[in-house]
This record gives sequence, structure tokens and C-alpha cells, in this order.
Amino acid sequence: MRYERPNTANEAASLLAQPSTTAHILAGGTDLLVKMQSDQFNADLIIDIKSIKGMRDIVEDENGFTIGAAVPCAALGEHEGLKTAWPGLVEAANLIGSNQIQSRCTLSGNLCNASPAADSVPALVAAGAKALVVGTEGERAIPVEHIPLAPGRTALKRDEFIRALHVPAPSPHSADAYLRFTPRTEMDIAVVGVAVALTRSADGRVSEARVCLGAVGPKVILATEAADLIIDTALEETVLESLAQHCANAASPIDDKRGTVAFRKHVAGVLAKRSALIAYERAGEK
Ligand SMILES: Cc1cc2nc3c(=O)[nH]c(=O)nc-3n(C[C@H](O)[C@H](O)[C@H](O)COP(=O)(O)OP(=O)(O)OC[C@H]3O[C@@H](n4cnc5c(N)ncnc54)[C@H](O)[C@@H]3O)c2cc1C
Repeated sequence: MRYERPNTANEAASLLAQPSTTAHILAGGTDLLVKMQSDQFNADLIIDIKSIKGMRDIVEDENGFTIGAAVPCAALGEHEGLKTAWPGLVEAANLIGSNQIQSRCTLSGNLCNASPAADSVPALVAAGAKALVVGTEGERAIPVEHIPLAPGRTALKRDEFIRALHVPAPSPHSADAYLRFTPRTEMDIAVVGVAVALTRSADGRVSEARVCLGAVGPKVILATEAADLIIDTALEETVLESLAQHCANAASPIDDKRGTVAFRKHVAGVLAKRSALIAYERAGEK
């Protein structure tokens, strides 16, 4: 197996494009190194992207935040601008693993691993984030919700990788929240995860909303009907009940020892209500 550490994104894309090569991008390695221990793992090229310029930077400007693909999740929790703008996204990223994992794991790796239970993905989708994808033919921006296709599969072409994630600057009086249910309090994978991002207008009513469900389908679910329900409301109890019902209906979970279908659907509704209330309260404080 070959290990390459390119200095430019173009070089990395060319390496990925090499014919008859099974190549894998290496970011933090917290998923990849675990997979490499498996007998089924097959790769002849590992491309470490950490030396590419800008990969470890978080750039803030008037349009939002560009988070390099090798920025460890721990660094997100230390970025005051990002924490203020998107507290739910930072909380979701900081739920991943332990301190040791935090110092290595990345948002882009969490997304490209394409686990339905990835904690940061619902929060990225709710925030309206886009993946900045580089390939041999140039760069394109893809909404994060279109990257995972199924467990372990993404929409990236063979020669493509994510160089950064762009999270837009939130509108005034906007905020987000992410909650997950795990049987253990830490070091566990989400049985259900829900992210809500919303904007409040001057009269306290919700003017924009995005609701996203994780771990209750083969890929993340952008629950647009559920989000539409809370527009032009002040999250009255009846509205929250409808939100919960719509999220439960939108969920399409598996049935396993960590939770039955009925349980996961119910929890999706409960977490949607709670996340919406947290986001609403946070937006009111801005
Ligand atoms: C002990 C432990 C606890 C964990 N707990 C959680 C948890 O609570 N919640 C959770 O969601 N996850 C958890 N994980 C999973 C893992 O830490 C995350 O998915 C992490 O965010 C992956 O990021 P990484 O940079 O380490 O990715 P890597 O391991 O480097 O890569 C993961 C996959 O994505 C690909 N990839 C990486 N970066 C890119 C890129 N820029 N472009 C294209 N492809 C790319 C790689 O080729 C690989 O297939 C845990 C893992 C461990 C070992």
C-alpha cells in the first residue's frame, strides 16, 4: 500500500484519478484506521490531505465560514465566531467520540464516512452547509444533504474529494440546536439525532426553518414538510405536537437491539420538539 501526502488539491485529485487504483482520502483517520484493521479493507493508495494549504483553516468572512477538510472537531469548539453563529453545529461536532478522537476527527470525514448516524451531518444540513468538492475537472459546491447516498456511499466521483465545507453566515435572530439519543451518555453512536435551524422575526414568529433527522434512514433526512409547519408560528404546544408527528412520520428507521422502529420514530418527534425550542430560545437571545 502506498501513502502519499500531496501539497495541492489538484495533486490529490490526480492521485485519486489514477486508473486501477483503490484510493482512500485520509483526514483524521478515526474511521479509516478502524476500517484498515478489517480483513475486508482493500486499498492500494492512501492520500493524506493534511499538508494541502488551507485544509486546517477556518476562514470567516461576511458570507460565512469555510472550514478546511482537515480541521479537527476540537478546533470548532475553540472558534468563538462559529460557536456564536452556529452553536448547534459546534455542539454536534463536539459530541463525536472522546477528547482523543476530537483532536483528529473532521466534519468532512464524518460526512464522507456516510454513516447514517454521523452526528455532525444533520446539523450541517440544517445550517444549509455546502461541500466544496475538488476534482480533476475543477471545483463544484454540493449541498451537504446530497453527499451521502447510502451507508458507506457518497455522491463524490472517483477523482473528487471535499476540500472544505462552507457554512453560510446566519441571518439576524437565527440559531440552531442538535440533540441525539444514545443509550450511554458518551462514546456511543446516535440511535436518533435531530437538528433544527430557524430564524425569528421581530414579532417572535418563525420566519425560516430547516429540520434534519439523522440515524433514522439510510441517509440524513431533510424534513421540509415538518419545517414548513413551524413557519409563521411562535412554536405553540399544538405546533410542536404537529412537528413531532411529522418528524416521526418522516423517519424510516431500522429495527435493531438499540431501538425498535416505533421507539426511534417517537424519539425523533421528541428530539425535534426539544431542538426547535432550544433553537427558538437561542435565536431570541441574538
Ligand atoms: C472511539 C470512536 C468514537 C466515535 N464516536 C463517534 C460519535 O459519537 N459520533 C459520530 O458521528 N462519529 C463517531 N465516530 C466516527 C468518526 O470519529 C467520525 O466519523 C469522524 O468525524 C471521521 O472524521 P475523520 O477525519 O477521522 O475521517 P477519516 O477516518 O480520515 O475518513 C473517514 C472516511 O471519509 C473519507 N474522507 C475523509 N475526508 C474526506 C474528504 N475531505 N473528502 C472525501 N473523502 C474523505 C475517508 O476516505 C474515509 O472513507 C467515532 C469513532 C471512534 C473511533
